[in-house]
Amino acid sequence: HIHNTLVELRGNIRVHCRVRPVLPLDQVQPSSSTLGSTVSEEVISAVGNDTVLVNCLKNGNPILNKVFEFERVHGPEDSQNAVFEEVKSLLTSLLDGYNVCIMAYGQTGSGKTHTMMGSQGPSGAPQPEEQQGIIPKAAVELFSGAPGQHRDVITTASGTSEVPSLRYERVRSAPEVMQLIRAVVRLRARCPTLVHAHSSRSHLVVTVTVSSESTPALALARRLQSAKREPQHCPRRETKLQLVDLAGSECVGMSGVTGSALWETSCINRSLSALSDVLGALAAEQRPHVPYRNSKLTHLLQDAIGGDAKLLVMLCVSPAQQFITESLQSLSFGSRAR
Ligand code: ADP
Ligand code: MG
Repeated sequence: HIHNTLVELRGNIRVHCRVRPVLPLDQVQPSSSTLGSTVSEEVISAVGNDTVLVNCLKNGNPILNKVFEFERVHGPEDSQNAVFEEVKSLLTSLLDGYNVCIMAYGQTGSGKTHTMMGSQGPSGAPQPEEQQGIIPKAAVELFSGAPGQHRDVITTASGTSEVPSLRYERVRSAPEVMQLIRAVVRLRARCPTLVHAHSSRSHLVVTVTVSSESTPALALARRLQSAKREPQHCPRRETKLQLVDLAGSECVGMSGVTGSALWETSCINRSLSALSDVLGALAAEQRPHVPYRNSKLTHLLQDAIGGDAKLLVMLCVSPAQQFITESLQSLSFGSRAR
């Protein structure tokens, strides 16, 4: 276990990608001359465990051929359970004393909410376990008797900024966590002036603060690290888990437009470009100043991104030709973070 903890210290930012199945929403809009709609061609596929292949053909000839590699790639056939299995070790890190953040990035309709919450939607009836996304599964995992874990977990009820007016709720079971999250999501839907009217233009951030005794593994790992760097400091007793369903990464008002040069920073949700800047700065060899303070999102997530915090970015993409521009933007975002 100590060995695992030390191995984990090496890679603190990892990027996974999930290519969802083709769905009815991938249908190409019928043009005025065509009747009905046609299913969009599948141009993005997952190959093996770590490769995304982008392959566009026009009249049988390849017009675009790109390969992206990530720590882990999930294909259309991968279940919610399979995806969760790959992120579960981060919850162990959380209990070992590290801050952890898992965020889903992608255009609207790419599967972010499906991945983070599950498909029935946050305010629907309880989902069968196999349909649940990362958030409900993580809630269950945290209460499933992790060794030495205290049963008192505090989660914030709102997560848009770190202002002192945040409300804290003490929860004691996984259903209580989900009840709280559903209440917040309902509030978010009811108060369009309070937050953005469209959920695809706003972020959902679930923050869980875990109070736990420091573990020997963490104490040792920290001691080995600090032998090289700063003076030793006491192991943290509180760690934070942040689960993030980001706003859609597509360009507002530009859907349906085709051609190159579609994506410009200016048309992306500003906090997403601030996030990209932060990840870019962290990935750079010579670490420049990391601009956390450029958006509320990055400011809020500051202690979960960088340092010894563990971040997992789950890129969500549609396999369909229709969304190729948005998907390429997401894949490039992920590549920049590595
Ligand atoms: P986003 O949150 O990125 O806007 P959603 O998660 O709402 O996208 O997904 C859009 C639609 O696609 C939903 O109806 C969802 O149920 C479906 N979907 C997404 N990912 C998958 C998947 N891996 N398998 C089956 N259906 C999916
Ligand atoms: Mg969504």
